[in-house]
Amino acid sequence: MYINIFKFGGASVNSASGIKNVASIVKKFSSGPLVVVISAMGKTTNAMEEVLKSYMTNDPVAVVDAFQEVWDYHFAIVEELFEDKDHVVYGEIGSLFNQVRGYIRKGHLYAEQRPGYDFEYDQIVSYGELISSAIVHHYLVLQGMNSHLTDVRNLIKTDSTHRDARVNWETTRQLIQQHVPAFFQNHPEAGSIVVTQGFIAGDSAGNTTTLGREGSDFSAAIFAYVLQAKEMTIWKDVPGVMNADPKWMKDAVRLETLSYREAIELAYYGASVIHPKTIKPLENANIILRVKSFLHPELDGTSVENLREWKISTPIYIRKQNQVLISISPRDFSFILEENLSEIFRILAAYRVKVNIMQNSAISFSICVDADPQKIDPLIAFLQKDYETRYNEGLELFTIRHYNNEAFNKITEGRKVLMELRSRNTLQVVLEKVTR
Ligand code: ASP
Ligand code: MG
Repeated sequence: MYINIFKFGGASVNSASGIKNVASIVKKFSSGPLVVVISAMGKTTNAMEEVLKSYMTNDPVAVVDAFQEVWDYHFAIVEELFEDKDHVVYGEIGSLFNQVRGYIRKGHLYAEQRPGYDFEYDQIVSYGELISSAIVHHYLVLQGMNSHLTDVRNLIKTDSTHRDARVNWETTRQLIQQHVPAFFQNHPEAGSIVVTQGFIAGDSAGNTTTLGREGSDFSAAIFAYVLQAKEMTIWKDVPGVMNADPKWMKDAVRLETLSYREAIELAYYGASVIHPKTIKPLENANIILRVKSFLHPELDGTSVENLREWKISTPIYIRKQNQVLISISPRDFSFILEENLSEIFRILAAYRVKVNIMQNSAISFSICVDADPQKIDPLIAFLQKDYETRYNEGLELFTIRHYNNEAFNKITEGRKVLMELRSRNTLQVVLEKVTR
């Protein structure tokens, strides 16, 4: 028995018509047992982060407003999908929202006992996926499919590194293998589907964890790997993996194929189309990854697979916005030596800051990192204790794989280059932001 994996991201389920389209894709393009992994609807994860932000700053009025917005958005969709106002989905979604409300109320009452940002992030923001998966599940049932909603927190087990949890593969493998194939054996009829949540998981203490932003692809890959799927399909709002994000490069083109290696490189450099942790499990089990458009499901998309000879005729561009360039020098203007570097890396690791690119000169060491104020502000404050630390915000980092001069000019024309790094296949530049 081969189990297929479909992952639907936020953009595919951002409206009632989106969810109807998902149901029609599931009906049309799946044959046999299927696991469907669902993200939060549209921009819900951001909206839940707003709820959390108001909660953390003890602003109950702002919490109510932010919460109401998420509630209204979801119930408008539910009302459009389920004409019968007595349908169980109304009660279920209401009760999921009430769980969040209850959690927040308790946190406001016992503010001094709060467990801290990362933990609370996972307990609150995870409801985006719990709510979306319940809505999609009930809609699939309404459409006559034998959908079975499974709480992924009982299947994917992680450590307790909140917001960036590490998978406990052995326990996860056992749990998924115990539950998922058994469901399909008991329900061999066509249209049997397991619907579950992306992005979220559970730790051994029974608390909710999350796998990092955009982590739903990785969730799907975990199922694909453990279930030894032949293929996994990520349904997106683009025709496949493009050589640049079509939102900012109008003449972006689709790549028909990618090797696992190249996909890992692209994800590593920040191509948002694929989550960095997703490819490795698929490569290890030789599972073909298809990236397809939910708007044109009949088109081919991109396949990522084990290709020894992979040739490309066009550069691939990856743009990362909101970058901070930090340069670090010893206060006495002595040289930057191995001792300083190992100390600096230790600090970076302690603050869980990922370095996007770095460059060393005699007296300063520069790094370009994502502007996550939760991490970067305390990091800079800490570095400033021992090092002369300067930083420059609001920058962009471009990575060009398989670059040529034309590609370099296209990106840098008329802009100030603050840092540049070249290797055989990859060119990276940090640019000052221009407002066009
Ligand atoms: N909903 C989560 C996010 O927006 C996870 C995902 O969509 O992959 O980051
Ligand atoms: Mg998403």
